[in-house]
This record gives sequence, C-alpha cells and structure tokens, in this order.
Amino acid sequence: MACQYCNLKNNELIVYESDRFIAMLSDNPVTAGHILLFPKHHYTIFEQVPDDEVSELFVIANDLSVKLFEKMKISGTNLLVNNGVAAGQIAPHFMINIIPRKENDGLDFQWPTKPVSDELMLNAIDKLSSGEQVINHDEEPVSQDDSDNENILIEHVNRIP
Ligand SMILES: [Zn+2]
Repeated sequence: MACQYCNLKNNELIVYESDRFIAMLSDNPVTAGHILLFPKHHYTIFEQVPDDEVSELFVIANDLSVKLFEKMKISGTNLLVNNGVAAGQIAPHFMINIIPRKENDGLDFQWPTKPVSDELMLNAIDKLSSGEQVINHDEEPVSQDDSDNENILIEHVNRIP
C-alpha cells in the first residue's frame, strides 16, 4: 500500500522541508495551524527512527512550536505522537502532531486518572528500571519496503514482552 506521506509532491500544505524532514499543515486539523512533522524516510513507528533523526525532529518541532507562538498568537502547544494502533495511530508513517492551543479552545486533552494497585506499580517499576536497553542504538534502522509497513505496525502492537 502506498504511503501518502512518502508520496507528497509539491503539496501546498507543506510549511517546512529539509533533505530529511517535512512539516505540513494537517488536512484534518483539530485547530488552525495543526502541523504534522515527520521524516521523509518511511518509519512506521517511533522505535524505528534512528537517534539522530529523533534529536533533529524535536529541534524542528521546537522551532515550529515557537513559530506558532510568534506568528499565530497562540498560548500553548501540544506535541503528540500516536505510537501504535492502541494509541490511536492511523497513518502507517511515524509523525509528531504539533497542535496550537489557546485558552478555552474547546479541545480537551485531559484524561481521567485511575488508581493502580501497589502490586502493579511495583511491577512497572521493576520492569522499567532494570537498566536493560531495549533499543540497540548502534544498530542500523530497520529497512522496510512498503509492503511490510502494515505488518511491522501490527507486530509492534502485538509484540509479546
Ligand atoms: Zn511513509
């Protein structure tokens, strides 16, 4: 399946482009100025993005956020990554949403908290603080062709710990 974010040509919604990255206005925005920022290379999920690109992406995200503050007179931004189907990811191409915010803009990114048992908290602490590195930062990024995109997304979501 062709990925629409890998096949952008002279799109009028593009607001930033470098040799490695594109930022474009969302064609399905939640507020005016809602930006999608993503690598030109096709990565389905966050863990596939090499460290140097992650670093640069967040520098660019910060620049775009500042630009939104200065040019569009907003009073906040949300930076949001939907990583995996369970997290609401729809497009099979990793991206950062940069969402401009104003007071009383009607968006509600609050989510209700719920109590977690001491056992589950201790279990999470035990699993997450082991110091074990789960991403090999020296490894070459996973190469994929378009036909594997959906499979990798599904594998990630269904991965057994
Ligand atoms: Zn893509």
